[in-house]
Amino acid sequence: MELLGDKVKLESPVVHVDQSGDNVIVETLNHEIYKGKYIISAIPPILTEKIHFTPELPTIRNQLIQRLPMGSVIKCMMYYKEAFWRKLGLCGATIIVDDEAPISVTLDDTKPDGSIPALMGFILTRKAFRLANVSKEERKRKICELYAKVLGSEEALHPVHYEEKNWSTEQYSGGCYTAYFPPGIMSQYGRIIREPAGRIYFAGTETATQWSGYMEGAVQAGERAAREILYIMGKISKDEIWVPEPESKEVPALPITTTFWERNLPSVPGLLLFLGWSTFITSLATTGFFAYKKGLLS
Ligand SMILES: Cc1cc2nc3c(=O)[nH]c(=O)nc-3n(C[C@H](O)[C@H](O)[C@H](O)COP(=O)(O)OP(=O)(O)OC[C@H]3O[C@@H](n4cnc5c(N)ncnc54)[C@H](O)[C@@H]3O)c2cc1C
Repeated sequence: MELLGDKVKLESPVVHVDQSGDNVIVETLNHEIYKGKYIISAIPPILTEKIHFTPELPTIRNQLIQRLPMGSVIKCMMYYKEAFWRKLGLCGATIIVDDEAPISVTLDDTKPDGSIPALMGFILTRKAFRLANVSKEERKRKICELYAKVLGSEEALHPVHYEEKNWSTEQYSGGCYTAYFPPGIMSQYGRIIREPAGRIYFAGTETATQWSGYMEGAVQAGERAAREILYIMGKISKDEIWVPEPESKEVPALPITTTFWERNLPSVPGLLLFLGWSTFITSLATTGFFAYKKGLLS
């Protein structure tokens, strides 16, 4: 932000994009006007619905943006006097599989120097929907009780502070962590997610080919959209648009080695299928044999 200075305009939602003339003209809610030869839209696809376009978006893009809802997550930060879970030899990272539990995932969010001990927890999907209807105090109480049970310590019941953020209430996010593709949408509309609409190019993590939904995806998409425009401007060649990520020198990629048994043992579903079928065939053969012995089969 320091490097970009006032080039980044905060609290200036775009409400109109007009590309009917020589320039693309962008108008914000507070009636500021910006002009450019090209623009990159890096907002979650469904939020494009808040923008008027002249001329209108191509039909299929207009349909796509209606079909990519945002996920539902409430992020909950529980602050404690000390990281009591560490004293118990626990790392604070949990995955809680229980329909009644408010939180599904936790992480130790204590600062690296050990200050501000905290547990971060996510209330996900239908639980976020359900628990949005209770008070903040009630959510806090339910979460503390869950942590006490999961971490096996009464200390979890006594946080010093609680913060939460329901991302679904943010009108310029719509939800989080990202948009999701309901069944059939990727195959029917997916191919146009990165297709420019005139001089509007599309970035945003949803358009990434790797780590879509994550920060890495957002960076990949932004760089790719910028290079698409550089190509159109004649500054780079077409095959420079998709530059592969350079391999990390600090953390080089290592081949994944597997043992003979890891490669050849059946998966759990495969084993269950095999056992199911072999039990069925054995019972059939046994029944046939006894039926034959009793003269019921010739
Ligand atoms: C609670 C939470 C936890 C997450 N945890 C992780 C994590 O641990 N690791 C990870 O990699 N990713 C995580 N993510 C996901 C990550 O934040 C996103 O993938 C990333 O921010 C996407 O970047 P983006 O640039 O595509 O979009 P965004 O970051 O969503 O940026 C889009 C911007 O566009 C603005 N905007 C919307 N409409 C308009 C408009 N009309 N005009 C102008 N501006 C507009 C929005 O206000 C927003 O600032 C998390 C997300 C959330 C919400």
